[in-house]
Amino acid sequence: MEKTRDISKNAQERFSARETGKLYIRTFRLLWRHYPKYLLSTAFCKGSQTASPYITLYFSARFLDELAGARRPEMLTRWVILLLAVSALFSLLALILYRWEKVEEHSFNMLHTKEIYGKKLLEIDFEKMDDPATLDLLNQIEQSNDHMGNGMNTYIIHLEQLFRAIFQIGGGILLSYSLFTRPVAEQYQGSIGLKLGMIGAAAVILLTVLFRPFFSRRERADILAYSEHGKAANRHYWQYGVGLYDKTESALDMRIYRQDIYGDEELKVFSINEIERREMLFLRIQGFCRAGDAVLSHMMTGFIYLYVCLKAWFGAFGVGSVTQYVGAVNSIANGAAAVLNVVEEAKTNAFFLQRIFQFLEIPNEMYRGSLTVEKRNDRDYEVEFQDVGFCYPNASEYALRHVNMKFKVGKRLAVVGQNGSGKTTFIKLLCRLYDPTEGKILLNGIDIRKYDYQEYLSVFSVVFQDFRLLSLGLGQNVAAGAGYDAGLVRDCLEKAGLSEWLRKRPAGLETKLYKDLYSEEGVEISGGEEQKIAIARSMYRNAPFVILDEPTAALDPVSEYEIYTRFNDIITDCTAIYISHRLSSCRFCDEIAVFHQGSVIEQGTHQALLKKGGKYSELWNAQAQYYI
Ligand code: ADP
Repeated sequence: MEKTRDISKNAQERFSARETGKLYIRTFRLLWRHYPKYLLSTAFCKGSQTASPYITLYFSARFLDELAGARRPEMLTRWVILLLAVSALFSLLALILYRWEKVEEHSFNMLHTKEIYGKKLLEIDFEKMDDPATLDLLNQIEQSNDHMGNGMNTYIIHLEQLFRAIFQIGGGILLSYSLFTRPVAEQYQGSIGLKLGMIGAAAVILLTVLFRPFFSRRERADILAYSEHGKAANRHYWQYGVGLYDKTESALDMRIYRQDIYGDEELKVFSINEIERREMLFLRIQGFCRAGDAVLSHMMTGFIYLYVCLKAWFGAFGVGSVTQYVGAVNSIANGAAAVLNVVEEAKTNAFFLQRIFQFLEIPNEMYRGSLTVEKRNDRDYEVEFQDVGFCYPNASEYALRHVNMKFKVGKRLAVVGQNGSGKTTFIKLLCRLYDPTEGKILLNGIDIRKYDYQEYLSVFSVVFQDFRLLSLGLGQNVAAGAGYDAGLVRDCLEKAGLSEWLRKRPAGLETKLYKDLYSEEGVEISGGEEQKIAIARSMYRNAPFVILDEPTAALDPVSEYEIYTRFNDIITDCTAIYISHRLSSCRFCDEIAVFHQGSVIEQGTHQALLKKGGKYSELWNAQAQYYI
């Protein structure tokens, strides 16, 4: 991995040319890996767009030379026909390339955040994803890009400018080569005045080229200062602008407490006034910089005319070539200025690219083995916790300590305990979202770290508290895929208690969930219905281990009890783990483990634990009084 800079450094800091170059090459490699066709199409398209003026330039010069010289009608006609034919062909080619580039650009714009950043998030160790700093980093990357294009968007613009500049310089050299080799007429060759004039003009051209990036550097510095503020303003806007109004779940809160009124105040004070002030300042500086650059650019063209005309005047070539040479040298000078410009701008954009790599290079530290999980028809998968302890990263206390447990195949285990007692942490370790700090977890006698991660996960079906359904068809949601076995989906929905609900949907399994994407045909579903669909999804997966981590929190106690007992009847050959803070839902389990302050303090059947008169019976009695 490359040495990374401290990200807390100021975004307005400029990187050295070497560091910038390295980052730009790394970004190119990254894009080449994912979008080679986009890069190629851009290069060809910019090339064709840049090269087309040279055709006019070249043929017009021949035409003018002929007009000012021999004036042969057949030659004049030939040059005109050639000019028209080559220009037409080239325009056609440029348009085809343009279309190709637009298609590739569209898929790049649509997909690159998902395919590059999203994929990284999916592959990253859960521990790293759980760290707020990771998501904040990604947030910063996306905000910088969305707000002023800093990072990837600016990189793409720079790449386009570089492609264009390369073609400009290349084409310019081709067309102006003879300008430098053709000598002036013999009688002027010794003239010191002429030589000095030409050297002077060339020196001014060079100086203007070198000085032009000063303006873009000044403008860029201001863009960064403005964008850092703008980003914060943007967040405020999303919070108190549209973001305040477009959430149905909090609409009532807003109407009762009139959050719009004090939200508006915040928005005005923080961003609108300040943004206006800064924008005015920024526009003033931008105007100054652009005017400065325009003056230099015209001055440069003036001196190019002077240089070329001096040579023409003193007999080096005919009048027709003047336009060709002026155009060609202008394009070399503009191309060189553009390269220097990109280099200047890139030195500040490097900070944002650095941030992208900082995110993409977050290392995965969890050991991932390669063992496959044996496929067993008898579902004889045995999991054992051996003296497992776990402390969250950056936490001072252990969330779990000395947990020893063996899941008996085909049995139901209930995990109960008060909030914060370690139940969810226990499931996170079982599903290998984290690895234990102490002890180990075994699947059929082998440390779970040795298994291929995806293979290991395939053993589990989990319904978490915070599950997520997608705005897709009902059948696709249950099957977690585009193609599905309709009979099995119906069966699972029925078992989850949704057969009546399904009967009322004319579109059946094709019913679209939610209205956000499907305003006409989509159906809004209640929290309870969502949970039943999530439960049906876990059944469809048909894994040997089923875990319900308080998925029924949105249900009333009666519905929860119904689901748990129904679940119990269905998954006869699975090993099931139920987590619930409502003890009544778990009493049918073969075994109940009581968690308290990160340890399993009691274990046994409902009856045995009640009889024991310990923590379980204390919790049971405390809850029972609300149900009686
Ligand atoms: P339960 O599911 O029983 O409510 P948890 O397993 O969620 O309990 O939490 C156990 C302990 O671990 C609690 O003290 C909780 O504050 C802590 N904890 C949970 N998640 C994290 C986390 N991501 N980082 C640090 N501590 C955590």
